[in-house]
Amino acid sequence: MTRDLALLPKGHLHLHFEASTRPLTLRDLAAEADEPVPSWADFADFSDFQDAYGDVLRLIRRPEQLERIMTELADDAKADGVVYVEVTLAPVLHAHLFGDDAAVALDFLLAAAQREEERTGVVIRAMIASARTMSVELAIEDARLAASYVGRGVVSYGLHADERGFPAAPFAPAFDIARDAGLLITPHAGELVGPESVREAVEVLHSDRILHGVRVIEDAELTAEVARLGVCLDVCPSSNVVLHVVPDLEHHPLPALLAAGVTCSINADDPLQFGPNVLEEYELSRTRLGLTDEQLAGCARASLAKSGAPEEVKARGLAGVDAWLAS
Ligand SMILES: [Zn+2]
Repeated sequence: MTRDLALLPKGHLHLHFEASTRPLTLRDLAAEADEPVPSWADFADFSDFQDAYGDVLRLIRRPEQLERIMTELADDAKADGVVYVEVTLAPVLHAHLFGDDAAVALDFLLAAAQREEERTGVVIRAMIASARTMSVELAIEDARLAASYVGRGVVSYGLHADERGFPAAPFAPAFDIARDAGLLITPHAGELVGPESVREAVEVLHSDRILHGVRVIEDAELTAEVARLGVCLDVCPSSNVVLHVVPDLEHHPLPALLAAGVTCSINADDPLQFGPNVLEEYELSRTRLGLTDEQLAGCARASLAKSGAPEEVKARGLAGVDAWLAS
């Protein structure tokens, strides 16, 4: 008798909004723009992936398309047993559709999220993320924007894009603004760069969660420190395979991280480009990574407890995880 992972209540904490677009919706966006449908079979490296992300962005040309993506994100979350999504938004990417005003773009996206929450019951909150390849000044603008939305839909502040050559430490002033405002600190780290990137995220940025972070496993002492501090790693197994962080799923460090006592959640990152949705990532974690139901439930617990979800959502979700495991 196998427990149904779709019935396990879970939070989805590492999901980039544009990359939640369904493949069929991408086809519609391309048709509407009279452009070829972007396709990708393989990514030679992260730069290829960023180009592919840009191809998707270029097809989003009307605010109503953002609403469609949010609607489908909520429906897909519900189908996967997700009770809470902390979706990564970069409102600057869509500001050009809103008079070059990132705050207006964010208002629009958060209003769409609110409507979908009321329609589906899936609670949706936002992480604002800055690109580490941009200037610290722009990140500070993002952090101030995020800080002004505390209590209005934004719960965390992060940093994304290529780690190589772009250390996180210079962005500490932006993270200080976010932390002082009460936002969770949630940068990407330890994906394309090894433990030194995780060390920065822990010791300089004082992260609550780290998106990916898996390469901490290369440093046993730091792994123990991350475990001791209870910093949650928002892990995305398939993403790490597609972008060559690990050779295959069987070599993914999630089981080793859990064995070392590290708190981890399981996520999809960019399902449009990488394939699996979050439910499939849980299923792969069971079938390919060999996680037990106790471990899968532990990851689901972390995805709620370490999230920016309202306390009652966490409590209800955690009770549901216990019930799932007892079933
Ligand atoms: Zn990511």
